[in-house]
Amino acid sequence: MNRRHLTLAFVVALAALWGLLPDFSVTVLSYIGLYALVAAGLVMLTGVGGMTSFGQAAFVGAGAYATAWVCTSPMVAAAIGTVVNPALLPWIGLLFGIVVTFVVAWGLGAVTLRLSGHYLPLCTIAWGLSFYFLFGNLDFLGGHTGVAGVPPIVVAGMSLASPRSLGLVIWGVLLLALWALHNLLDSREGRAIRALKGGRVMAESMGVDTGRYRIKVFVLAALLAAVSGWLYAHMQRFINPTPFNLNIGIEYLFMAVVGGAGHLWGAVLGAALITLLKEQLQDILPRLLGSSGNFEVIVFGLLMLVVLQRFADGLWPTVARLGGRFLKPVKARAPRQTLTLPEAALPPRGQIVLQADAVTKRFGGLVANDAVSMDVKAGEIHALIGPNGAGKSTFFNMISGVDDPSSGEVRLMGRPMTGQPSRAFAALGLGRTFQHVRLLGQRRVIENVALGAHRRGRRGWIASMLRLDRAEEAALLAQARRQLERCGLGEFAEVPAGSLALGQQRVIEIARALAGHPAVLLLDEPAAGLRHLEKRALATLLDQLRAEGLAILVVEHDMEFVMNLADRVTVLEFGSVIARGTPLEVQADPKVLDAYLGGVDEPAEAGRLVEQSA
Ligand code: ADP
Ligand code: MG
Repeated sequence: MNRRHLTLAFVVALAALWGLLPDFSVTVLSYIGLYALVAAGLVMLTGVGGMTSFGQAAFVGAGAYATAWVCTSPMVAAAIGTVVNPALLPWIGLLFGIVVTFVVAWGLGAVTLRLSGHYLPLCTIAWGLSFYFLFGNLDFLGGHTGVAGVPPIVVAGMSLASPRSLGLVIWGVLLLALWALHNLLDSREGRAIRALKGGRVMAESMGVDTGRYRIKVFVLAALLAAVSGWLYAHMQRFINPTPFNLNIGIEYLFMAVVGGAGHLWGAVLGAALITLLKEQLQDILPRLLGSSGNFEVIVFGLLMLVVLQRFADGLWPTVARLGGRFLKPVKARAPRQTLTLPEAALPPRGQIVLQADAVTKRFGGLVANDAVSMDVKAGEIHALIGPNGAGKSTFFNMISGVDDPSSGEVRLMGRPMTGQPSRAFAALGLGRTFQHVRLLGQRRVIENVALGAHRRGRRGWIASMLRLDRAEEAALLAQARRQLERCGLGEFAEVPAGSLALGQQRVIEIARALAGHPAVLLLDEPAAGLRHLEKRALATLLDQLRAEGLAILVVEHDMEFVMNLADRVTVLEFGSVIARGTPLEVQADPKVLDAYLGGVDEPAEAGRLVEQSA
C-alpha cells in the first residue's frame, strides 16, 4: 500500500459510507468540503507561493452573491427569463461568479501584489473589510438581510436540493480540485510557483516572470474560493454578508496554516479540525463563560500559536511522516514518450557574448562600480577578482539584470540590456549562481535543478493540471538528472537540497544553471566551502564546459583555483579595474600585489605570497 492507494481507499470509503451517514454528519462533512476548497487555494497562495491573505472570505462571497443575484434578481429574470431554462440559472450564476472573481482578483492582484513585506496582508484585510460592507450595503444584494430563495443546482434534470446529494458534489469538486492542484505542483509550472518563495531575484534569473505568476496564483486561489461560495449559496439557499466577513477570512487562514500551509491535504485536515472544533466550542464556551459571542476565535488564535510553536509547517507533515512509516513510496511511472528540449546553438568560440561598457553603480555617495569595462568570450573562462567590498557582486548584479547600472551599458549577445529584467538575460542564454546560495531547501535536489530548465518548457497551468505535460516533464527531469550527474551529485537527486553541505549546494546551483543550456555562465564564488577534491572536480567541470564553448565568468577568492583555470583575469579594487590580463601578467602586477597584500616591495616575495594565500 502506498500513498496513492490510501487516498483511493479514503475516497472509496467516503463514497460507500455517504448514503449511510446520519444527516448531521453529512452536513458537517459538506461544510468541511466547502472550507477545504478555500483552504486549498490558500495552501497554494500562502504555503506554496508565500503570499498571505486574510481576505479569501470576500471571494467566497463574490461567488455566492453572483449566483444568488443571477438566480433571484427580477432584472435577470426580465432580461433572460424567457429564453433560458430556469434550471440553467445556477450554472449561469457559476459562470458569472467566475468571471467577476477573475476580473476583480486580477485587478486587485495587479495593484496589491507588488507590495512587499506586511503591506500585502494589510491590504487583504482592507479589501476583506470593504467587500463585507459592500455586500451589506448594496440594496440589489439584499443589504444586511441578504438574499433568500436561491434555487438548488440541477444536474441533468436531477435537483440537488438535499444536503446529501449536494454534499457529494461538494466532495467531488474538492477531490477534483486537489487532484488538479497536486498535478500543478508536480510540474514545471509548480516549480516556478514554489520558486516565488525563494525570492524574486532567484526565480527571475530562472526565467520566471514572478509578477505574473504571483497574480496567477492569487487568481487561482480566488477562483477556488468563488466556487466554494457558489456551492455554499446553493446549499444554504439563502445568503447574507455574515459568512463572508473578515473573521471568517482569518479562520480560512487558520485552517490552511494549522493543517499545513505547504500541503494540499493539510487544507482538508485544517478545515476538518477547525470546523469540528468550532462546532464544539460554540457549544461549550458560552456555557463556560456565561455569555455568548465569537469566543472560539480566541481559542483558534491560541491553537495556532501552539501548533506553529511545535509544528512549524502545520500538522500535515507530522501526520504524513507517521503514516509514511506504514506506506510504501509511490513508484514513479516511466513516461510513455519524452521529447527533446529546445537547445539553442552556442555562439562561435571567441565571439564576445557579454560586454560591459563603462558600467558605473552608485549607492548614494558610494561608487561601488566605477566605469568598469570588460567582456567575456565564448569558450573562455574569465575571472573577476578583488578584495572584499571591491564591487564584484555589484558588478554581477549589473550584468545579470538584477540591478541597473547608474550609467554605462551592458550588452548580452550583442543586444543592449538596459532596463531589462533578469529573466530577459536568462532568455538570451545567461545562467548564474549566487554568492549566497538560493535553493528551495525543502525540495528535492532534482526539482531544484529542474527549475533551471524552466524556460525550455512550454506547457502551461491547465496542461499541467490535466497531466498533459508528462512528456515534457519527463524531458525536463531527465535533463536535470543529466546535469546533476555531470556535476557529480547524481546520487543526491532525491534528498532535500537543504540537507547537503554548503559546498555541494553551490554545485547544485551550477547544475541548475546548466539545466537551462546557457551560453554564458556567471559563477559567484563557486569554490567557497568546497574541499580540495571537490574543487578539483569543479575545475575539471569548468574546463570541460569551456571546451564545449561556454563563456564563463567566475568571481572567486581562491587564487590557486582562479590562476590555474582562467584564460583572463580582471582585478577590481574600490570599484575600479586596476589590472587585467593573463593570470601570469596579473600576478606580476605591482598594483595587484598592493591591493591584496597592502604593499610588498619585493615582487618575487610577493609572488610567493600570492601562491601561499591560496
Ligand atoms: P564584493 O562582492 O566585491 O565583496 P560588493 O559588490 O558586495 O563587493 O560591494 C561593493 C561595495 O558596495 C561595498 O562597499 C558595499 O558595502 C556596497 N554595496 C553593495 N550593495 C549595496 C547596496 N545595495 N546599497 C549600498 N551599498 C551597497
Ligand atoms: Mg561579493
